[in-house]
Amino acid sequence: MAVNDYPELPQRLADVRGRIADACARAGRPVDGVRLVAISKRHPVEAIMAAHAAGQRDFGENYVQEMRDKLSSLDELEGMAMRFVGRLQRNKVGDVVGCGCSVDTVDSERLARALSRRAATAGVVVDVLLQVNIGHEPQKAGVMPDEVGGLVELVSTLPGLRLGGLMAIPPATDTGGAARADFERMHRLVADLGLAELSMGMSADLELAVELGATMVRIGTAIFGPRPD
Ligand SMILES: *Cc1c(COP(=O)(O)O)cnc(C)c1O
Repeated sequence: MAVNDYPELPQRLADVRGRIADACARAGRPVDGVRLVAISKRHPVEAIMAAHAAGQRDFGENYVQEMRDKLSSLDELEGMAMRFVGRLQRNKVGDVVGCGCSVDTVDSERLARALSRRAATAGVVVDVLLQVNIGHEPQKAGVMPDEVGGLVELVSTLPGLRLGGLMAIPPATDTGGAARADFERMHRLVADLGLAELSMGMSADLELAVELGATMVRIGTAIFGPRPD
């Protein structure tokens, strides 16, 4: 794979930016209030380089080792910021702290404390979001909605962590009115807790997420195409 193996990427990226701008206009929101995070998981580094060349700066990965491998093989890309959006095991906490990425998937006191200890030891501050299990799905990561308040309070006191807000991946089966209800509940949580950032919305539902207050949307397929196996 080479950077120029992605001839369609600039147009795809422009299309996604257009969708975000249209959704912002409809919602009466400023377009710079929504950050586009390009989820590059399972795509090669050349895809990241192509997106960066097309002006994209925020990226997300959801496997620790893959993220580390990519970051180490990418030359310094100007202004690039990486977010970890996958499930984080506590024994990998040191690896993500070493990456200089933010972590959008903190969902337990134990994980928060482990991350805090590592960050404090390394003398760095890690930007975090708390992942909320908005659909109450037993198999899914995320703190339950009625426990978010407690976790926010704790994380706010921990050294080495800077809490920005909340993140959610609603149930894939929630479409239409159910998806709207999930996003509305997330928006209410963020507002009630006095937080700023709300990461929600993917390729298929970014318009609804923007309408309902997302400050970050996480887009993979619509930018990079289908993920290679
Ligand atoms: C893969 C992934 C996305 C992107 O999904 P698409 O449907 O490809 O846009 C967003 N968020 C998370 C957490 C992901 O793992």
